[in-house]
Amino acid sequence: MAGCLSEADFVMVEEGFSTRDLLEQLTLGASQATTEEVAAFFVADLGAVVRKHFCFLKCLPRVRPFYAVKCNSSPGVLKVLAELGLGFSCANKAEMELVQHIGVPASKIIYANPCKQIAHIKYAAKHGVRLLSFDNEMELAKVVKSHPSAKMVLCIATDDSHSRSRLSLKFGVSLKSCRHLLEDAKRNHVEVVGVSFHIGSGCPDPQAYAQSIADARLVFEMGAELGHRMHILDLGGGFPGVEGAKVRFEEISSVVNSALDLYFPEGCGVDILAKLGRYYVTSAFTLAVSIIAKKEVLLEQPGREEENGSAPKTILYQLGEGEYGIFNSVLFDNACPTPILQKKPSTEQPLYSSSLWGPVIDGCDCIAEGLWLPQLHVGDWLVFENMGAYTVGMGSLLGGAQTCRITYAMSRVTWEALRGQLLPAEQDEDAEGTCKPLSCGWEITDTLCMGPVFTPASIM
Ligand code: PLP
Repeated sequence: MAGCLSEADFVMVEEGFSTRDLLEQLTLGASQATTEEVAAFFVADLGAVVRKHFCFLKCLPRVRPFYAVKCNSSPGVLKVLAELGLGFSCANKAEMELVQHIGVPASKIIYANPCKQIAHIKYAAKHGVRLLSFDNEMELAKVVKSHPSAKMVLCIATDDSHSRSRLSLKFGVSLKSCRHLLEDAKRNHVEVVGVSFHIGSGCPDPQAYAQSIADARLVFEMGAELGHRMHILDLGGGFPGVEGAKVRFEEISSVVNSALDLYFPEGCGVDILAKLGRYYVTSAFTLAVSIIAKKEVLLEQPGREEENGSAPKTILYQLGEGEYGIFNSVLFDNACPTPILQKKPSTEQPLYSSSLWGPVIDGCDCIAEGLWLPQLHVGDWLVFENMGAYTVGMGSLLGGAQTCRITYAMSRVTWEALRGQLLPAEQDEDAEGTCKPLSCGWEITDTLCMGPVFTPASIM
C-alpha cells in the first residue's frame, strides 16, 4: 500500500448502501441548506475506478497504465490511482506539481505534451522528470538547452479522421518526417527512447490502434538504424469510459494484443504503456445539478394548436452548470447528456417539450433540447451519470459556476481489496468477467433511473 489514499479521503459505504443513497442524502442536505446555495455537485465512486484498473490489467496484461491527469485532476482520483501504482501523464508544470505533491515519484511521471513552455521544461529538469515527448525540431532544441538529460519519446500522427475528438490535427509527426527528426536528435546527442501516438477519442475502429502500432514498429527500425536505443511504446488514450460505447474496451484490447504480439512480441525488450484518461474516470462520477430558473415559451407557429386547444409551448430550464463548464463535452465531444430525475414522476403526469440550458448569458449555452419531461420546479435536482471525464475543474470557464464539490465514496470491500492490492485473478468474477464486488453498486443503471425521463422515441 503506497499510503497516498486514506480513509479520511472518502465516505466509506457499507454493504446495502449505494452511492445513489449518498447522492439522495446530499441533494436533500443541499436543498435544506440555508447559508450556502449549492447549484451542482459530484458523487464519485472510487470503487468504479479501482474496478476499471483491475479490468485493464486483465484485458491488457502487457500494457502498463499511466493516467492522463488533464482528464480529471481531482484529488480523490489522483490518490486512488497513485495507490494502485499507476504512472501519470502530465501536460504542464501544474499537473506535475499536483501528482508530486501526493507523493508520486518523478520516475512515474511523463511530461507528455509535444509543445512545452520552456519554464515547464526547466521544472521537469529540476524535479527529476526525465521522460518527455516531442514531435518537431523546435521542441528538440528547447529540450537540448533546458533539459539535456531528458529522454525523448517521439509522438507520431495517426489517422484519427473518424474519431470524435481528434488529436493528430495538432500533435504528432508524419511517418515520412520521422527519420529527419531522429537524425536531428542524434546530431544533438538527444536520446530518443520511444514512440507514442493517440488515435483520438471516440474512435469507431479499433484497427486504428493496430495501424499505429505497425507504424511505430517502422519508427523503431528507423531509430535502430540511426543508433537510438528505443524501448518504450506508448499507446496513448482514447479507450472508452462507458459500457455502452460503440466499440467496447474488450474489443479494442483484443486488437491491441494481437498487434503487439505481431509487431512487439513478448521478450522484445520494449516496455508498452498507455496514457488513459476517460477510461478510468467517466463512469465513476455522477453529477447532481439543480434547476435555478425556468420559463415557458410559446412555440409561435400560426395555425398550429395542441389537441386540447392551448397553444403549444416548450419549457426552458436553466441549470447551475452549462456548456462553458462541466457540460463542455457537448461542445467538444458531441455528447448528449441525459438527465435522470431525482423524483420519480407518476405515469399519469403529463410530459412537456423541454430543454436544459446553462447559466451563461449566451444562446449557445444549451445542454440538451428535444426532451419530454414532467413539469419540474426551481430547486429540483437533475442527475447525470458518466460525468467523470473532462468535467472537473472546467466550472469557472467563461462565467460558469465555481468548481463543484466532489464527495468521494468507496465500499468497504473495495477498500479492503485495495489495501490488500488483490490481483484481478484473485477476485470473484461474475458471468461477464467484470469485478462488480468492488463497486458501490452505482453502475446498476436500472435501479438508478427513477422512471422514464425520455425514450429515444420522445426526442424531437
Ligand atoms: N494522452 C494524451 C497525449 C492526450 O492528449 C490525452 C487526451 O487528450 C490522453 C492521453 C487521454 O485521452 P483519453 O481521455 O481519450 O483516454
